[in-house]
Amino acid sequence: MAEGDTILRAKHRLADALVGQSIVVSAPNPRGRAAGIERLDGLTLEGIDARGKHLLFDFGDLVLHSHLGMSGGWHVYPPRARWRRPRSAAWAVLAGERAEAVQFGGPTLRVLSAGRVAIDPQLARLGPDILADDLDLDAVVAKFRATDQSRTLGDALLDQHLTAGIGNIFKSEACFAAGIDPWHRLSEVSDDDLRAVLDAAREQMLAAVKFGDRHRFRIYKHRGPCARCRGTVHHRGQGDANRTTWWCERCQA
Ligand SMILES: [Zn+2]
Repeated sequence: MAEGDTILRAKHRLADALVGQSIVVSAPNPRGRAAGIERLDGLTLEGIDARGKHLLFDFGDLVLHSHLGMSGGWHVYPPRARWRRPRSAAWAVLAGERAEAVQFGGPTLRVLSAGRVAIDPQLARLGPDILADDLDLDAVVAKFRATDQSRTLGDALLDQHLTAGIGNIFKSEACFAAGIDPWHRLSEVSDDDLRAVLDAAREQMLAAVKFGDRHRFRIYKHRGPCARCRGTVHHRGQGDANRTTWWCERCQA
């Protein structure tokens, strides 16, 4: 599952490879052709913006919007390199002078006019990006206070309308780092504790952006006793989507 840290890493990699160049755009898989991405062929890529788990490729008057969901991925290859997946599975190929970027799968790939981005329902409802340089934590806390306070903390952390970018891994990691029970209802979590969890999510995710695959998770999918207190680590599905949450019964009591 691509969370905000994976998307921010992808953004940096894609921007290094392609921004400022005229891009040859093709869609080997019918899904990309259905999205009309060939309209972007020959345009200059002016920048790439990450919002939570969404990527927006700025082609001037047109924007390519991609969301990878559970299954999608962006690969970057040198010219004429062998791809790790078949060409027919590629939804979008963006070829620049030194590299080509390929999107395989994912729930969202579409072209928007630049003017629509600000009013598009899917994008406009996103909460503040947890990894934004200018993140206003108080504004995020206010959003958590404005939602139903009977929701559990772990469930609310995944709600991209409250804050964008936190996924299932960092939901568990953030609550563990802050020492807060993810099963508390929001009504039982103080503003200070909310701030601590959000701060921890941001800190852990920025570390993952920096270290990539070398970043080690401390509670997510942890087997055996808690590495911090030797207490029991539990996991159980949480929220309407039943996404598994991992927590330590002692550290997070
Ligand atoms: Zn523990």
